[in-house]
Order: sequence, then structure tokens, then C-alpha cells
Amino acid sequence: LSEVLEHEQDLPSRTPDGHDMALMVNTGLTVDAVASLKNRISGVGLYRTEVPFMITERFPGEQEQTRLYRDQLESFAPLPVVMRTLDIGGDKDLPYFPIEEANPFLGWRGIRVTLDHPEVLMVQLRAMLRASQGLDNLQVLLPMVTNVDEVDDALRLLDRAIIELGEEGVVARRPKVGVMIEVPATLYQLEALAQRADFFSVGTNDLTQYLLAVDRNNPRVAELYDTCHPAVLSAMARLADESRALDRPISVCGELAGDPAGALLLMGMGFDALSMNAPSLPRVRAAIRRVPHSAARELVTQTLALESPKAVRHHLATRFGEWQ
Ligand code: PEP
Ligand code: MG
Repeated sequence: LSEVLEHEQDLPSRTPDGHDMALMVNTGLTVDAVASLKNRISGVGLYRTEVPFMITERFPGEQEQTRLYRDQLESFAPLPVVMRTLDIGGDKDLPYFPIEEANPFLGWRGIRVTLDHPEVLMVQLRAMLRASQGLDNLQVLLPMVTNVDEVDDALRLLDRAIIELGEEGVVARRPKVGVMIEVPATLYQLEALAQRADFFSVGTNDLTQYLLAVDRNNPRVAELYDTCHPAVLSAMARLADESRALDRPISVCGELAGDPAGALLLMGMGFDALSMNAPSLPRVRAAIRRVPHSAARELVTQTLALESPKAVRHHLATRFGEWQ
């Protein structure tokens, strides 16, 4: 990374025409390295709780989870930390909880697993609530939501966890709860979801996989897997517009947010925050600091008129080249 970019990292992620874009990080295991970025970010947009679960020999107990979550929350307080409930299944198996299915990405994944095992979700929610005592920066995110009932069921469990803890003398406030937008069905139920959720976070990795019917990990169809497919971008633009109309903040935590040209598009569409892996931050920040918000909006209009992923890629590369 050039010295110029490094120097910029302490400057705000503000466009030349004065638009501030909230940049957040995705975390999993290494809290220490990322915590040093605290002054350069707006918080943790996605803490993948399954990551620490992958290196243990059994489900970590409530105390152990409380320690893990406390570490995250404390490291970034007072900034918000969005903790996603366990998102196993698909390509993420726990050695001590094998799931064998013919179509794992269409199977028992994310909230489908944890609602079938409320004892697992309850321990996790209790640990999150315990960990946030006195900090108040916890937000909870539900992965792989397909139906509003799943949100209702998860909220009921959350309320039960709060009551249980209260009976044990631990006073916990209900954190903000968000829904991941990554199953295409949710695009058509945003209003119903907004009645239940405080915010949305788009998982462009899975949303792309499911909109295009292309396995995100299959090298044979890797060329077809393109987050810049016009259908994906059109869905994204619509999501940003609808969330604004519904008065719900919406962020992006999939890989598209960490791609500089992608980040400009998402900013132009009106997303409230972009959450990415820490190594992507410098280039995304640099792009935002160089490109006026008005130009990003123009980029969105131009790009949404294109009909093929190839044309989109070409256009983004050309425009982005001009700005560098
Ligand atoms: C996504 O699907 O875009 C996402 C952020 O979640 P994950 O990559 O963990 O499935
Ligand atoms: Mg996902």
C-alpha cells in the first residue's frame, strides 16, 4: 500500500463534495489487529460469530461466549458492533456438528439451524446480552432470513433471554435487531420485515449466489458468479430506495462493499454504511475521498442502464481509471 494511502487513513471517509460515508469492518477471530482501526471506522458491521465456533471442539458454553463477545464489544465501544447469530450450514460446517445434505446452500443454514435448535440460539443471545452489560453497543443480526415468522421467532427468543437474565438479576436492554438481506424472497417483503427489524444488512455474497443461481464456491461456474450482474445491481438500488422510504438504515456487508468501484456504486445508491474486511478499507476510503458523491450518483445511473455483467465491469473499470 502506498504511503499516500496510508497517510489518508486517519482522514475522514468524506467525498470532495462533503458526503460522509460510514465505513465499518467485518470481524471474526482477530479482534486485536482490527481494534487498532477504531479511530478510522464507524464500528463493526458484521461480526461472524461462527468463526470462533469453528476452532473449538464443541459448542462454546455461555461463559466462554460471553468472554468472546465482551472482547469484541469492549474493543470497539462506544462504536456499534453488529453480531450475527450463528450462520453455519452452507459451506460453513462445525467439526462437532456435521450437516450432510445434497444441496447445502439451499438447505439447513443460518437461522434455519438455530431456530430448530433454540437451546443453541438462547445460549448465544444470553451471552451477547451479558457481554453488553454497561456498554450498550450491541446490535444483533439474523442471517439467512426467508420468512417473517423466522424474525418473529428469533425476537421471541431474544425477549425470553432478556426475561431469564432479569430473573437472574442481570438487567439487559433489548438491542437493535437487524435482518440480513441475502435470500431473494426478502427483496419482496421489505415492508413486512421493516415492521420487525430495526435495520437491514445486505449480504451481497449470498444474494448474488441466490439471484443468479450460481454456487459461490464452484470454480466451474465462477465466471457466472458476478456481483456486478445488472440484476444484482438493480436489486441493490431498489433495496436502498425502499429502505429509505421505510425509514430503516441499510448497510452492505458482502464483498461488494470492499471493492472500491463497488463501494462507489453503493454510496451513489444511498446505502448508509459499508462493512468490509479490514485490508479493503484503505482503497475504499481513498476512492471515496477522490470521487464526488454527485459523480457516484451519475455512475449509478449510467451503470443501471447497462445490460450485461461484462458491460458493467468495463464501464466501472473505465470510469474508475479516470478517477485514480
Ligand atoms: C454475505 O452473504 O454477503 C455475507 C456477508 O455473509 P457470509 O459471506 O458470511 O455468508
Ligand atoms: Mg451470507
